[in-house]
Amino acid sequence: MLVRRAAEALDRNTTDKVALCAMAKQFATDNCYEVVHGAMQVLGGYGFLKDYPLEQFLRDIRVHQILEGTNEVMKMIVSRDLLTKDVFWK
Ligand SMILES: Cc1cc2nc3c(=O)[nH]c(=O)nc-3n(C[C@H](O)[C@H](O)[C@H](O)COP(=O)(O)OP(=O)(O)OC[C@H]3O[C@@H](n4cnc5c(N)ncnc54)[C@H](O)[C@@H]3O)c2cc1C
Repeated sequence: MLVRRAAEALDRNTTDKVALCAMAKQFATDNCYEVVHGAMQVLGGYGFLKDYPLEQFLRDIRVHQILEGTNEVMKMIVSRDLLTKDVFWK
């Protein structure tokens, strides 16, 4: 839902598009990483072997926490956006 919301904001060129895309990128990649990491825990050593696609999934999702701006940088973008909102200073 968050990814779709961000994509819609981008398409509509809304003022919150940058913050929403940063939230979506961080949330989606961190959660996917947790899912794949959990799957590897279940499969044990087999999850690590090239005989199965899971090791590729793990490498692919790990780099997406880094690519296009790391998730730490996404958090910085979101926090900067929140700090500019009047609601926090009233
Ligand atoms: C496979 C691959 C393909 C790529 N393709 C492209 C491409 O097509 N075009 C392109 O332009 N780039 C590309 N990149 C580069 C990619 O965008 C950068 O790797 C990414 O933005 C992170 O920058 P960096 O590697 O310099 O890490 P750094 O910025 O050096 O970060 C290192 C670590 O420090 C942390 N960090 C940095 N600054 C802060 C901060 N202010 N607060 C907290 N933590 C911080 C980061 O989160 C990270 O954990 C690619 C990288 C890879 C691995």
